[in-house]
Amino acid sequence: MAGKKKIAIMTSGGDSPGMNGVVRACVRMAIHMGCEAYCVYEGYEGLVRGGNFIRRMQWLDVRGWLSEGGTLIGTARCMAFFERAGRLAAAKNLVAEGIDALIICGGDGSLTGADRFRAEWPSLIQELEDTGVYTALQLQPYRHLNIVGLVGSIDNDLSGTDATIGCYSALARVCYAVDLIEATASSHSRAFVVEVMGRHCGWLALMAGVATGADFIFIPEKPREDNWREEMCGVVEHHRKLGRRKTIVIIAEGALDREGNKITSEMVKDLLADKKGLGLDTRITTLGHVQRGGTAVAYDRMLATLQGVEAVKAVLEATPETPTCVITINENKIVRKGLIEAVQETKMVAKAIENQDFDRAMGLRDTEFSEQYRSFMMTTAVQVNKKMQVPEKDRMKIGFINVGAPAGGMNAAVRAGVAYCLSRGHEPIAIYNGFAGFARHHGDSPLGAVRPFDWLEVDGWASKGGSEIGTNRELPSESGMETIADLIEQYKFDALFLIGGFEAFHAVCQLRKAREQFPSLCIPITLLPATISNNVPGTEYSLGSDTCLNELVEYCDKIKQSASATRRRVFVIETQGGRSGYVATLGGLGVGATAVYTPEEGVSLEMLAADVRHLKKVFAQDQGQSRAGRLILINEKASKVYNARLIAEILREEAHGRFESRALGVVFTPVAKVEEEKTDCPTRRPKAEFWLEMKDIGDILPGRPKYVPRESDLTGIKPKDVKRGIEGF
Ligand code: ADP
Repeated sequence: MAGKKKIAIMTSGGDSPGMNGVVRACVRMAIHMGCEAYCVYEGYEGLVRGGNFIRRMQWLDVRGWLSEGGTLIGTARCMAFFERAGRLAAAKNLVAEGIDALIICGGDGSLTGADRFRAEWPSLIQELEDTGVYTALQLQPYRHLNIVGLVGSIDNDLSGTDATIGCYSALARVCYAVDLIEATASSHSRAFVVEVMGRHCGWLALMAGVATGADFIFIPEKPREDNWREEMCGVVEHHRKLGRRKTIVIIAEGALDREGNKITSEMVKDLLADKKGLGLDTRITTLGHVQRGGTAVAYDRMLATLQGVEAVKAVLEATPETPTCVITINENKIVRKGLIEAVQETKMVAKAIENQDFDRAMGLRDTEFSEQYRSFMMTTAVQVNKKMQVPEKDRMKIGFINVGAPAGGMNAAVRAGVAYCLSRGHEPIAIYNGFAGFARHHGDSPLGAVRPFDWLEVDGWASKGGSEIGTNRELPSESGMETIADLIEQYKFDALFLIGGFEAFHAVCQLRKAREQFPSLCIPITLLPATISNNVPGTEYSLGSDTCLNELVEYCDKIKQSASATRRRVFVIETQGGRSGYVATLGGLGVGATAVYTPEEGVSLEMLAADVRHLKKVFAQDQGQSRAGRLILINEKASKVYNARLIAEILREEAHGRFESRALGVVFTPVAKVEEEKTDCPTRRPKAEFWLEMKDIGDILPGRPKYVPRESDLTGIKPKDVKRGIEGF
């Protein structure tokens, strides 16, 4: 890194939840790396106008920004930037402030503008020299413009990244709205056409369709066949015949038919309401800007933070030869990609749609998009399309079983699995209350543990929390392996589908090992990881872990706000997560916790002492920029000695302030491989936890001092020693 850099951050184009997280991460990371941080207010408009629109930012200026919706530094559409004169003014302003790197967070329009600016930069600088605005000497350090892009967009419409900052918050809002609408639709037996944003990109509509179990969706990239009217009415009619009292059709604002004509919400409504056809009482709800508003969900906060940090690193590592990059996420990894390529590919999708080359448009979206589309089609059209069914001889009887503690999404997974089975002609069977239920209540009574699914009931499970078929922690060995093996034979199960966390994983391991002894266990057995702790080996993501993080982040936001009347408050919050610090670490990253204590790292007196000193310093410097309280998160098993209450008491004692305490992409991997190579059984967590490196970022951004473990660190001490130790430092 040559000298100290001045890095400016701006947000541009349509706002999206998470943009503030980007600004916070960039500002703090820049300062952490010894650079000066600036914000350009009001997007390109601010860049063109300069002066007061470009402001130096300090560490505390961005405090609490993770919990704020929209963008606090403003955004605008700027016509002037489309013209060379506007871009020339922007160049002049950057040079005037001495800024040598620019990080831009926006959609494809903003990134196109950024790319143009970068390409033109040498000629703009030359013009500033030729017209005598600056001398060649003055311009010398600015011959090359260092630009890095970040994708902030609710549509998830940029090629080359699995997710854009804000898209999951928008999706959460759409799902929430559809849940509300479903309740009223069901009451009146109505049909609703829900219009969501997405001019060229159907991601929101598709994912909302999958997540809420909508009857039908319309997206721009994949128009239905010419008979879409009959097709939609056929599906809706079928669902009504099965007993569904509500009809939900989700339509992207850019929905098209195969000829490229617009399909509007009105057209869909008229069809559903047509007295000669379905004759449903139908309403339209256009969700509009509700989708943009509000604070970011945990995922977007994490993405904003990690990508913001990466953007600053990219700026510092760039040389004049490095191609301009955009920060993306692919399969859970933050990656730098060519900005120009990403923007060009995105434009190609729009072009393909315009040319009605829909296969190409679909092909340009990532593979997950097509898979989601296929699974939506498979799970919505239950038993409608006989063509989808497998030949009689290949049909299977599949037992569904939930194991371990309930996690958000378990029911949705059962629903999708059952729908898939029914569509393909398989026979899904519910095994109630885990292996314990199976072993003890298997009789043939109507309330026995083994029952066929009632589709009408299951259909409503997409948005239900908990576990409708009941779950139990008991392992097959505890229930009796022989009993379980006999029952599998007795009920003639061809396959077992387990949904659950570490216990479920353990159960699968046991069943696999017992195969030699019990041939009836030699059937396909699959585990879908679902646990809030996200500690199942072999996967980076378990169902329910994001729901848990969202709840935690929302809760922490409220707690922080509750301190605003008194200021100078620290809350110590205990999180779940077993012996895995995932929930605490990611939760901490999402709310900007001052410190996070995890079982992986443990808690020591030295660590506490360092954090107390840090808090004292922080409060001494506090100029009242934000009145929100500060948070410390501690995992329930981080330490045998220090719990949330004790830490809060130590802080209160030491800081003499006012503190308060509160104890408060699918890959199949063979289980044998995961068990042998990737599992740390005693601690019930994976050996390599992909998120561990995020812990550092979670510490850097709130300014927590780096803690280096020392030999002298005390472990295994008793509470009374703690008191003594603290008094001594
Ligand atoms: P988004 O970034 O959300 O796609 P827009 O398409 O409105 O939003 O772009 C935001 C701003 O980026 C525009 O108002 C304009 O200032 C700038 N911009 C977009 N496209 C270009 C371009 N081709 N050349 C120069 N500036 C552009």
